[in-house]
Amino acid sequence: MSEPLSYDLWIDGAWRPSTGDARLEILNPVSGDVVHTVPNATADDVDAAVAAARAAGAGAWRDDAVLRSEVLFAMSRLLVERAPQLAELDSADSGRLPHQAVGQIKNIARWYRYFGGLTDKIHGETIPIESPTMFTYTLREPLGVIAAITAWNAPLLLAGLKLAPALAAGNTVVLKPSEFSSASTLELAKLFTEAGAPAGVVNVVTGDGAGTGAALVAHTDVAHVTFTGSVEGGRRVAAAAGQHLKGVTLELGGKSPNIVFDDADLDAVTVGVLAGILTLSGQSCIGGSRVLVQRGVYEEVIARLKARVDSIVVGSADEPDAEVGPIANAPQFERVKHLAAGAERDGARLVSGGRPADREGCFFLPTIFADVSNDSEIAREEVFGPVMAVMPFDTEEEALAIANDTSFGLASGVWTNDLSRAHRMARGIQAGSVYINNYRGLGPHVPFGGYKNSGVGRENGIEALHDFTQVKGVWLETSPSTVDSLRRS
Ligand code: NAD
Repeated sequence: MSEPLSYDLWIDGAWRPSTGDARLEILNPVSGDVVHTVPNATADDVDAAVAAARAAGAGAWRDDAVLRSEVLFAMSRLLVERAPQLAELDSADSGRLPHQAVGQIKNIARWYRYFGGLTDKIHGETIPIESPTMFTYTLREPLGVIAAITAWNAPLLLAGLKLAPALAAGNTVVLKPSEFSSASTLELAKLFTEAGAPAGVVNVVTGDGAGTGAALVAHTDVAHVTFTGSVEGGRRVAAAAGQHLKGVTLELGGKSPNIVFDDADLDAVTVGVLAGILTLSGQSCIGGSRVLVQRGVYEEVIARLKARVDSIVVGSADEPDAEVGPIANAPQFERVKHLAAGAERDGARLVSGGRPADREGCFFLPTIFADVSNDSEIAREEVFGPVMAVMPFDTEEEALAIANDTSFGLASGVWTNDLSRAHRMARGIQAGSVYINNYRGLGPHVPFGGYKNSGVGRENGIEALHDFTQVKGVWLETSPSTVDSLRRS
């Protein structure tokens, strides 16, 4: 075992030790070895990071759209170039399979490119009003210092979804990655310096949620909090932000329905449904964890899913054949085991998996439960693991009712060759994303976010850029009045 990497904080364009002594150990989920240690940043550290971001926001960054564009384009190139090294860090602390980690990091380059192209297209409007001499227009301005708080399942993707639009709009950022996976985010921040960003534009404070995260959310100089994590975490963050009257963007959990009609192409269904839930070992917010199948093809779809699931190679980052990796950390592994154990008790039929793999480490077998009741725990709780709950339906109306009978509303899938039905379902499903005859699409240009408990606000697309700006109305009188309106006529 090699020595754990020991990180400091990234503040004002340089490594800076914490003002406190507390450190967090980050463990590999297969060996249990400590792979990285990071500071559990104090309120004073948070204060220093916010001060650096605030100072950087008062400089050229805010007004120089060309500089912002150049930095974001450079980041896009650097991410592609350094993807293997960054991916290694995620493999070490989360067990990420290298080919999947590298692919995702290269993909994130698109976000920096897309938003880098928008820095000089952020503009207000002129608004004609009843007075011909009044010139009325809006200015779209950055919010200031953004607190960005991320989950552990895809650190650089989640950071990119926040950084690229926030920076494009002229804000500066203090990032707090998950205490389970911080190293790649620290290295990402360092890359910004190489990309030409002024010191303080991107800062990273590591630490736990209750201490470091809460101090960041409560900081009076933070203008807006963008958060990706659990519903419970989102509630805490929104409540604290509400106390300080700052805005929030929340990307939370899901229990997304993937709906298969009996006219669908079942070859495409099999690969789409499995990729929909098993990518990242099911540790994906948009995972299609409820698989609704029309009665006519119900047993056939289950048989096809089982045939492929039983052949899947579960393995670790250093096993080249591995298709599904480990669960990223021990607490999450315990949660997956606990929820899966309850499914049969609640009447589900175990088709495949249902238990940890017979080997050391946090490995859980890809799992199919059939005949699941939508009222049972396995259908209502987000597992965030490689577990699908399959349930039958008869009619389109019934499918829609089951799909929407959830507290979440992040994503959904519809598999059908009937175009009219596809459109009806797209309109009827209460979720931020609807995938028709595909699953898992995510791009910088298409708005993404949650209905109901899955979130507040939108990431990606022009919507994300606008979420990181505020609008000012300007009234310019070209022919000032000399009438004293206070005097009685
Ligand atoms: P979590 O809520 O436990 O933690 C998320 C982040 O919030 C961490 O950095 C944590 O330290 C911080 N945090 C926790 N409490 C805080 C507080 N009071 N103040 C400030 N920060 C605080 O979530 P997790 O276990 O890391 O992530 C898994 C969850 O994330 C799942 O529910 C998953 O669905 C969700 N997720 C959502 C999306 C999306 O885009 N919708 C994407 C990925 C993950």
